[in-house]
Amino acid sequence: MFACPNCGGNLKFDIRTQNLGCEHCQTQMDVYSFEDKEPNAPSQSEYDVTVFTCPQCGGEILSTDTSAAEFCSFCGASTILYSRLTKEKRPNYIIPFQKTKEDCKQAYSEMMKKAIFAPDALKNPKYIDGFRGIYMPYWAFYMTQEGEFTLNGSKSKRRGDYIYTDHYELKGEIDAYYKGLSYDASSSFDDNISEKIAPYDVKGMKTFTPAFLSGFYADTADVDASTYETDAENIANSNSIGAIYQEFSGVDVEPLLTPSALNTQTKAIDSAMFPVWFMSYRNAGRVAYATVNGQTGKVVTDLPIDVKKYVKGSLLLALPIFLLLNLLFTITPSTLLIVVAILAIISIIIYSTEIAAIKKKEALQTKKSALFSSIFAIVLCAIVGILQPANDIFYYGAVIASLLAIFYSFKDIIEYYNILATRRLPQFDRTGGDDRA
Ligand SMILES: [Zn+2]
Ligand SMILES: [Zn+2]
Repeated sequence: MFACPNCGGNLKFDIRTQNLGCEHCQTQMDVYSFEDKEPNAPSQSEYDVTVFTCPQCGGEILSTDTSAAEFCSFCGASTILYSRLTKEKRPNYIIPFQKTKEDCKQAYSEMMKKAIFAPDALKNPKYIDGFRGIYMPYWAFYMTQEGEFTLNGSKSKRRGDYIYTDHYELKGEIDAYYKGLSYDASSSFDDNISEKIAPYDVKGMKTFTPAFLSGFYADTADVDASTYETDAENIANSNSIGAIYQEFSGVDVEPLLTPSALNTQTKAIDSAMFPVWFMSYRNAGRVAYATVNGQTGKVVTDLPIDVKKYVKGSLLLALPIFLLLNLLFTITPSTLLIVVAILAIISIIIYSTEIAAIKKKEALQTKKSALFSSIFAIVLCAIVGILQPANDIFYYGAVIASLLAIFYSFKDIIEYYNILATRRLPQFDRTGGDDRA
């Protein structure tokens, strides 16, 4: 805790002023006021934190404050988290929060207005108030490329019956650097969220001091930087090679430039903390996350669908469409049959792609009954279509039976969609004690 020199109250980082602010007496102070003046003091490499551990999932967040954390951001459990005091290694940089909790709630609510099929719980103001400001650890790569290259270029022109080819020798020198290619350093923060919530503007990075964390939480860095080194170098290589070919556009270049010519070197890997507003929604053994980039305000959220709302919405939409079609064309029983068969085929396609996506995402047992009901609908339509019974009642009977079957498979489709839109409850395998400090 950072005590107010005026009244002893708790100073917290104030996003609006980018200073430390006292809640009691409105005192404002520079964030770096609590910095140890001695350059080689032990506090320059480590800082004191309280680590909170969730008894249900093992997820950990840390804080410079000791007051109890009452829910877990990773699994959504409302429970008092275990706490212990420890020291953490200081990151080099931090991008302080620029978007306030109000900004974040507003951006999220704006987005949820458009999500008409989302469960009401996700739009509940009390739930939305659960957004928590968390700093996520990142690795920021600084890479250089220096080298020379020689390429053979040729350009052909056609004049009448002849083709003229000009040959060039292309010499170049590379002197490039990449600063701030960044990767999520926390195993509890899903890589697919960190990719979607990107980019962060690394120009906003400030030298880290623990006071930035006051009033916020931070996630621990537990993924080694070396995990991403090859990937970062590959990105730098393909960017530079792309830029070089861009220079010579319209010329056929040989040989192809290889990454080794660029002499890419990772000069430094800085640890940094980036701000995220984070909220979780737990339902039926699954969890959905809503995140807002604390620097840019970009919203990234898991969006499950409420089945009841979906059914009501589709029926309300289907009726006027049907009536309109009926006004415009005379719908014969046989065209109706074709429309229903097409619907069944569409449901099979959606269903199969979903199942394939689920199989890729997590090992999960999937039901086949929905697939069979859609196939049943197609077969029924085909039989009636081929037999062409004289009485229209057979057409209508087949249409109604098929629609029911399709409706049944759509229910499963939504259920599977929700599996894809949410996550398994996390289970973190943390080592106990202070051995990570
Ligand atoms: Zn004060
Ligand atoms: Zn938890």
